[in-house]
Formats: sequence, C-alpha cells, structure tokens
Amino acid sequence: MTENLFPILRDRYPEFFSSASLREIRCLPGWLDLIDELCRTLKNHLDTHHELPPIEVRQVKEKFGGLRFYYSGGDAVCRDAVNLAQERSLSTCEVCGQIGTLGGEEWARVRCADHINWSPSVDR
Ligand SMILES: [Zn+2]
Repeated sequence: MTENLFPILRDRYPEFFSSASLREIRCLPGWLDLIDELCRTLKNHLDTHHELPPIEVRQVKEKFGGLRFYYSGGDAVCRDAVNLAQERSLSTCEVCGQIGTLGGEEWARVRCADHINWSPSVDR
C-alpha cells in the first residue's frame, strides 16, 4: 500500500540521494510533490552556484507529524527552501497531498478530510 518514494527520488535526483547510508524515505506518498519541488529548487540553486558544497541527503522522514529533511552541503538559501518545505508539510495530507491539518489522537499526523481515519496497512 505505502509507495516507496526512495527509488523515485533517487532516479530524479541521483546527486542528492546517492548516500550509501540512505535506504528509504520514511513518509507517505502525499509528500512526494513537496519533496520533489524542494529538490528541484535545491538543484536549480546549486546549478547556478557551483562554488557551493554539494548537497547530500542524510534522512527524509515524518516526525511529530511534519516532514524532516536532513542533509549536508548547500547554503542559507537551501536551508530556507528546506524550512519552507517542512512548514508546508504541516498543511499537506501525507497520504494524498491535498490540504490537510495536523491532528490525531495517538500521534500527530497531517491528514485531509478524506484521510482523517486512514492508517497504513503495514505499521511503521
Ligand atoms: Zn488525503
């Protein structure tokens, strides 16, 4: 049920997702567009600023309901882009990418009205 985002992102941005320690993207597919847009922004920035240290993604996951994007390299512009994406995840349904709100009884998750009671078939 839960789509694996890692091969998708690694295919699109091999320069970011080639770290040997990175094996999975631990969030649901609703955030794929968000992460994709972030990576595109980072790539465009690095492509025009060759002096910057390359970006290497360490870990991408959901934590306390929000996206966490850990990486090394880049500069302040990259940090701002990552912060913006992490903020936007808090109003983006992790299941489908529609507008959602942070809520939940046992633990916080961002869900739209359609997925308010949705849970992955395989527990994480
Ligand atoms: Zn949804």
